[in-house]
Formats: sequence, C-alpha cells, structure tokens
Amino acid sequence: MNRRDALKVGAVGVAAVAATSLTGCGGASAKPAAPAAACHGGGPKVLGKHTVVVIGAGFGGLTVANNLKRIDSNFDVCVIEKNDTFMSCPVSNTYLGRLEGMNLGTFIHDYAQPVEKYGYAFLHAEVKAIDRAKKEVHTTKGIVQYDILVMSPGIDYNYEGQFGWDAKKIAHIKRTAPAALIPGSEHVVLDRLMTNLEDGDVIITVPAGKYRCPPAPFERASMIAAYMKKEDLGGKVIILNETNKIAKGAAFKESWKEIFGDKVEHHDFCKIVDVDPAKKTIKYIQKVPTGEKDKDGEPIMKEVHHERPYGMLNLIPHNKANPVVAMSGVETTKDGFGKVLMNGCSFRTKTDENIYAVGDVIGHGLPPSGQSANWAGKQCALEIAHRLHGKPYTLEVEKTPVSAGNVCYSMVGDNPEEAIMVTHDFSYNGTTIVGKGNVPKDAATGKFRSTSTAKALHDWYRGIMGDLFA
Ligand SMILES: Cc1cc2nc3c(=O)[nH]c(=O)nc-3n(C[C@H](O)[C@H](O)[C@H](O)COP(=O)(O)OP(=O)(O)OC[C@H]3O[C@@H](n4cnc5c(N)ncnc54)[C@H](O)[C@@H]3O)c2cc1C
Repeated sequence: MNRRDALKVGAVGVAAVAATSLTGCGGASAKPAAPAAACHGGGPKVLGKHTVVVIGAGFGGLTVANNLKRIDSNFDVCVIEKNDTFMSCPVSNTYLGRLEGMNLGTFIHDYAQPVEKYGYAFLHAEVKAIDRAKKEVHTTKGIVQYDILVMSPGIDYNYEGQFGWDAKKIAHIKRTAPAALIPGSEHVVLDRLMTNLEDGDVIITVPAGKYRCPPAPFERASMIAAYMKKEDLGGKVIILNETNKIAKGAAFKESWKEIFGDKVEHHDFCKIVDVDPAKKTIKYIQKVPTGEKDKDGEPIMKEVHHERPYGMLNLIPHNKANPVVAMSGVETTKDGFGKVLMNGCSFRTKTDENIYAVGDVIGHGLPPSGQSANWAGKQCALEIAHRLHGKPYTLEVEKTPVSAGNVCYSMVGDNPEEAIMVTHDFSYNGTTIVGKGNVPKDAATGKFRSTSTAKALHDWYRGIMGDLFA
C-alpha cells in the first residue's frame, strides 16, 4: 500500500482495509470473497481464510499481529476488531486529573497505522460465534476461516451475577455510573459526570476477584481528588472496596495522606447491594471487627448496613472473561472470571492446539495489564512463528525468570506530577507463568512516589504506543 492509498484508508475507515485485504475462500489471492453458496453451502458469507486469525486489536491482539509480521512478513494474518478506533485505558486516569497535555487525543489511535505498516488483513466486525470443528470465526460481516486462532478479547462486566439486575437497570447504571474499565464511551461519560460535579462525594467501588488493572481504581481516586482540589470542590473521594486488598497499597496510602490529607477515604470489606441512580444513593454492607476473636485467634466480624448519597459514582462490578472465550468452548477456570486454561508454559490453550490466548483472559498468574498483554503477545507470536516455520520452540521464561516483565505506573499527584510503580518478575512454576511484584521507594526521599517515576510513566506510555502503532 502506498502513501496515497493509506490516506484513503484513513479517510474511509479501517473497514475498507478489511474489504480489500480479506482473501476469497481458501485462496491466497487478494480477490474479493467468493459468493457464499460457492464456499459454504448457502450459509453466511465466507469472507476468506487466513493462517492466523487474531480476535481483538487491543494490547494483546495487536502485539501478536504486529510481531508475527515483524518475524516474517509473508505470514498471512487477519485481525478482527469490533471498534473502529483504538482507545487506551492506560494513562486515561491522568485525563480525569486534568494533567497538563492530557486530552482525549492522547488515548485514541488509528488502526490504519499498523495495518499499513505490517500489511495484515483487518476486519472491522464483531465476533458472534466460533466453530472450532470447522475452524471458523463467525462475525457480523461474515465468516473468517483459520488455521490458528488467537483470542485477546479482554474483559466483560458481570452485573447480572453480582447484583441480579435486569438489562434495563444495567443499561441505566452503565450510563449514570460507568465502570470505565473497557475502552470506549464509558470513559467519556465518566469524564462528563466529573466535569458536571458540583457537590457531594465521589464514590469508587472496587470488586473482589480478578479484575482489569488492580491499581486502576486507586489511581483514579488520586486523579479525581487532584481534580477536586484544583476546582476547589468540597466532598471526598470514597473508595468502597469489597476486600481489604489495595494494589500498591502502602504506596497509595502514603501518597493520599501526604498529598490530599483526608480527602481520599478507603473502606475495607464493603459489599455493594444496590444503587438508586434517581436518588443518587448506594447501599452496601460492610464487615467490621467486633473487637473479639474466635477460637483460632481470628477477629470476629459483624455486618453493618449503610446507605450513602453520592455526587458521582464509578461503579466497578465483578469482571469476567469476554464472551468470545465462551464462544470458543475452551476450558476455563471455575471462578467467577473464567480464565482460559493454558497448555503449561505456553500461550496455547489447554483444550485446542490451534487456539492461543493472550491478554487479560489468560490463565497464567500474570497481572492483568497492558504491559503483561504486550509481553505475552510477543511470546505468543514467537511460539506461533516457530510452529509455522516447522521449528520447535520453548519460551525463555520456562528456563530463565524474566526481570520486570510487567512495569505498571500510577499517577498519584499533579502539582508536581508524582507517580508510584510496581514491577513484576515473571517465572514458570511448573504449572503456570507467575508474576512476583515489588513496589520500590525512591532512594533519595524514602517515599514511594517521585517526580522521576511520573516522567517514567509518560515515557512508558509513549514507548508502548510506539510499539503498537508507530
Ligand atoms: C483505567 C485503566 C488504567 C490502566 N492502566 C494501565 C497501565 O498503566 N499499565 C498497564 O500495563 N495496563 C493498564 N491497564 C490495563 C490494560 O488496559 C489491560 O490490561 C489491557 O488492555 C488488556 O489487553 P487485552 O488485549 O486483553 O484487552 P483489550 O486491550 O481490551 O483488547 C480487547 C479488544 O478486543 C475487542 N473485542 C472484544 N470483543 C470482541 C468481539 N466480540 N469481536 C471483535 N472484537 C472484540 C475489543 O474491542 C478490544 O479492542 C489499565 C486499565 C484501566 C481500565
């Protein structure tokens, strides 16, 4: 594709790339897809067949596609993505904090860039079903056949399982108290709610179980507190945590106390029961110690019922694997999330040797972060590339631990900008790949937060966006 063609693609959207890139049934030519009846017995239209089909052009999926083409430009790769633009969750909280230079444009990227650079097919469509027996992915635009399938579809919310609400109430809650863990309009709604906030507390709920980016709600609390301070808004940021776990906990608590005084409050063991968006109230049951201990020396807890008003609510429900995983029928963990069971030290699924998974849905013990998805995507591309070249391959991490495979920064203050960080070393424990975290302090100040970590956060973001898009 020359530069002029690329500009045309930019003007008409990535769907046009798909239309010209998807091959006909079973062929390697770039001809338009053959008529449905000719290749699929009159069923939905078969758009084409590709050696590797990747579902999801987020952190994990784009990394796999880009790296397969970096390794061998002759690989026939197709990416299927339901959104027409990429929006980053990482660093989006700094937009809520109104940090200098952060605007919506910082987080939105154009899929035509990597498509043009690497030359893979890109289908802008939503995956609706997967037929493993026929090796087909059924989408809103037709069927794509594969030899190897990679799933990186990210997460979904489990409002039904957690609250038993009907579809109407869930839709209303999503509009009025969005979780904003999934890229797209939720972030825009959350920002609007914050901009319109005049009074009252901001409540952020933190779910139990596996959820996307464990430090994200706490970074968000810091950034909203920074905004409220700047705008001289009364009210507090109240975190209602279903457990007593806080990712980078000591570092966040130190920063909140020293930067915001009592403006950020964290409450343990708060089980959300209901929300009334009309009255703007949230009901929850908190477990608090009675002061007595049981026969094993454990504190005895009692339940206290609360109903609190809010000015703005960021209701983060339980997370679960994106429905694409269930569509594939591969085996998953039996917890509420449903992580994909993996084939030992590999990104191949345990169930199907032709299906791989990366990103937040994997069953390895890696933190669910964009950086982990990027690392996993590169490993997965290496595994698939060796397989396609007919060569054996063992992931490096099976033999040698990977130092700082994940580095995750959280902005905690804006004047000056200060951030904290966690690094995770990855290793293989004989069953899964696991991450061991470390939250360092700044050697000079003895504090967890520093201005140099804030600078590193911006550098990291530029670097990973460069890896995905430049
Ligand atoms: C507020 C916030 C802050 C964060 N900060 C950081 C950070 O600082 N550092 C960090 O490393 N990570 C951070 N993360 C985590 C990071 O965003 C995720 O871990 C990462 O996006 C996971 O990558 P993924 O590929 O699994 O999913 P995603 O990046 O979400 O990609 C999934 C893609 O699949 C597509 N898709 C889903 N279903 C379908 C379908 N049926 N058909 C077609 N396409 C589909 C989606 O549209 C999406 O584009 C943060 C997350 C949040 C919410």
